[in-house]
Parts: sequence; C-alpha cells; structure tokens
Amino acid sequence: MSCEYELVAGLETHVELSTKTKIFCSCSTAFGGQPNSHCCPVCIGLPGTLPKLNRQVVRYAIRAGLALGCRISEISKMDRKNYVYPDLPKAYQISQFDKPLCRDGAVELSNGRTIRINRIHIEEDAGKLIHERGDTFVDYNRGGVPLIEIVTEPDFRSVSEVKEYVELLQLTMKYLGISDCRMEEGSLRCDVNLSVRPQGSETLGTRTEIKNMNSFTHIARAIEYEFSRQQELLAAGEPVIQETLRYDTTSGVTESMRSKEDAQDYRYFRDPDLVTIRVTPEEIEELRASLPELPAAKAIRFTAQYGLSGADSALLSRYPRCADYFEQAAAGLKKPRIAANFLLGQVFSRLGSEAAKEACVIPFDAAALHRLAALVEDGKINMGLAKSTLERMLDLGKGPEDLLSPADMEAVDDKKLEELCRAAIEADPRAAEGFLGGKEKALQALIGAVMRATRGRASAPAAEKQLRMLLKP
Ligand code: ADP
Ligand code: MG
Ligand code: ZN
Repeated sequence: MSCEYELVAGLETHVELSTKTKIFCSCSTAFGGQPNSHCCPVCIGLPGTLPKLNRQVVRYAIRAGLALGCRISEISKMDRKNYVYPDLPKAYQISQFDKPLCRDGAVELSNGRTIRINRIHIEEDAGKLIHERGDTFVDYNRGGVPLIEIVTEPDFRSVSEVKEYVELLQLTMKYLGISDCRMEEGSLRCDVNLSVRPQGSETLGTRTEIKNMNSFTHIARAIEYEFSRQQELLAAGEPVIQETLRYDTTSGVTESMRSKEDAQDYRYFRDPDLVTIRVTPEEIEELRASLPELPAAKAIRFTAQYGLSGADSALLSRYPRCADYFEQAAAGLKKPRIAANFLLGQVFSRLGSEAAKEACVIPFDAAALHRLAALVEDGKINMGLAKSTLERMLDLGKGPEDLLSPADMEAVDDKKLEELCRAAIEADPRAAEGFLGGKEKALQALIGAVMRATRGRASAPAAEKQLRMLLKP
C-alpha cells in the first residue's frame, strides 16, 4: 500500500555578527584579508592566553532574541564543545550548551503558520580550510568571529516555508544592524535537519542533518533531494539512518559525513576561563526600546498609512533605505501611491541589482520625487509626461523643475483645451474636412496636434471629446 509522506524540518542557522572585533580578543572581524593576518595568540588558541568576552556580542544577540520574540536569560554562561579538527586550534569551540542567552521565540510565516524558535546562543566561529594545489591550508582569520546560532523546533513542512523563514531572518538581522548576512561570504549558514513521516502522524521520524549551506538554491535542492531519498527508503521498508550529511552542489546529492554525534560526544563543560554572563532587566528593556520597526510591522503600516498593496508594502520593506526614501517622498501627498509606483517601477528597474536597491542609490533626493508626484496629483502634468520626466531625472540627476518648462507645468484647463482644439482645426482644415466627410482617422491627426502643442500634458480623451464637439456639423 502506498502512503503519503510529510516533510518535517528544523533549522540551525549560524549568523556572523558584525562587531568590529572578535568575540574573545581585539582582532578584526573583516571578511577576507591575507590569510592569518587577523589573528593573535588568543584566537589561535596558544596555551596560556585568556579569552575575554566582547560585551557587544551579548547586546547584539539580545537584540536578535528580542526581535524574534525570545525570553532573555539574565544569567547564562559559556561552555566548551570539544572536538578535534584542524579548523579549531584549541580543539574545543567556545559555545553555550545548557544556558543559552535566548529561549522560546517565534516567527510568523505568511501562510499563518508559526515557527517556534527553541534557542539562540552565542559562540565563536572556527577557521577555514582551503584545499589548493593538492594540499590543505588553514586560515584562522574567521576563527573567533562571533556567531549566533538560531535553532528552531521541527516546525517546517515545506521548502517554501524554509525559504521564507531564512529570508525573514536575513532581513531582520539587517534591520537590526547586527549582521550583513551575506550568504556568499558565509555570514549566514544553515544546517537543515530533516525527517519524514506518514501524513497525519504525530510522532517524529528519524532525522538526518545536512550541514552548512549558504545559498537558497542549495538549501532548496538539498531538501528536495533528501526528502525524496528518505521517502524512498521508507517506502522500500528500509530505515533512515541518523547521520550528518553534506550536500554536494555539483552532483546534487547528499552524502554521509559522519554518523550523528550526540551532545555527550562533545564532552561539554563550562569554560573555566570565562565568567558568568549577567544581564539586568534594565539592560534588556533598554535594548527592547532601541529596536527598530521590524519588516513585518513596517509592511503592515505602509498598507494602512499609505494605501499601498500588500505586495508593494512588502517589497518596500525589504529595502529599509528605499522605504525611508519613500516615506520622505510621500509625506504630504494626497496619493502616496503615485510616489510608490514611480519608485517601485522606473526607479527600481534602474537600480537593478539587490545591492543597489539595498544602498538606495538614487541620483536625486526624495524631495524631487515628491515634487514630481505632486505635479501629477495636482493635474499639472499627466502621467505620460511624468514618466518621461522621471527617466530624464534618472539620467541627469536633476529635479522635475529643471527639466520641465513653466509652460509644461501649466495645467491644461477646459478653456485652454478648447483654444488649442480650435487652433488645431484652423491649422489643418483638410483633416477637419476629412473627419466631417466621414473619415474617423482624420480626427487622430487633430488630437495629435493638440498633444504636441501641450507636449503631452493634455488628456487625449478630453481633447477628442472637445474636437468632436467643435466639429459637430
Ligand atoms: P542536536 O543538538 O543533537 O543537533 P537538537 O534536538 O538540538 O539536536 O535539534 C537540532 C535541530 O534538529 C533542531 O532545529 C530541531 O528542530 C531539529 N530536529 C530534531 N528532531 C528532528 C526530527 N525528527 N525531524 C526534523 N528535525 C528535527
Ligand atoms: Mg546540530
Ligand atoms: Zn585574536
């Protein structure tokens, strides 16, 4: 009998914090650099050195915890997680085991489901192995860079939920200013724990853990591959073996790295070199008060306050600088949507790359966009002229009044339109006669003349109506 299986996944996400210095020493956290140039006796683990906790790491981690709805522990501590690997010169990683800094948070997804956050703890990153010229080298620049690890409950049921969650984490960290979350530089990396179970079952199946993925594409492909691999095993009556996997991006398959280690394999114990981490309720409240408006809240407010669609609000809140720019441009407009359409349409298509949207590099200030939108709102220029003016503003970095003549911005009222229509008929009597003789097309020539005379400011339907009236036999 065939059976439908459900995907069950939990994520462990490592986020590198963008403090200036490392977690236990004053070396730089800058990405890259000459190998082993951001190192000192502490972060390469020389005997006799002592770590000292960078307090900024604690504050950043608390900000993350508060933004994800966690409880903050007033007392926590650092533990040693022992394992031997060349990227870890001390043969232990300083992490948090049974007293993490943050617990019990939650993230809401757009489909209404909640992903529970089990914990967020702080730890140090390891160095990096480089396989080159048939040899393996080690670069300790990344060793000792502060990380937070955000661990969810096994609450994901699809690839798209995982993707939305990771995007939301990334955006939230950026809003908080605590990480650049550049996946391509490894400053956000995910381990995906995955199991399957018969649809409707409440018990968890045996899981595997796919380590260290740093691209959305790889995460999605790895989950799809592993989901079908486990289903096939179960369908064939074979067990899933609990193990740690690597996703091979070239072949697109998951392969075993090692059988799953248990917490006891790491012989965790408290790091005797570091004191208890104490956070006062006042400090927590101060950090809570300093949180910025978060992406979901901003999107909801944009829809309520400016009447933007849900999709437009969500898009704007993905780029906080553009969102600020929009708010400056929209201030005082009766129809803020005009400014949003300019920004999300023509301006965004010029900005192109994600990086340019993030930096919000627009060659004119928000006040210039406001003035352009106001001209449309007040009926001084029509949408066609506004759009061509916007293109020139983007080309030249100028404001609308530098590009539009005073005549351009003069509203074409009914009286003016009538004048222009009469002039067009007078200037082209053949077209007028043609129209009167039954040639509908001849009217287009006259409408065209009116539009040219106003450089596109007149409304074509209004001109047509007026011309038909004047030419009534
Ligand atoms: P460990 O510390 O051994 O890695 P945890 O219990 O802390 O194990 O879980 C690690 C991650 O694995 C969490 O994100 C959790 O939600 C997820 N997880 C645990 N059990 C399962 C399961 N049966 N299926 C899918 N994910 C799971
Ligand atoms: Mg794990
Ligand atoms: Zn150092």
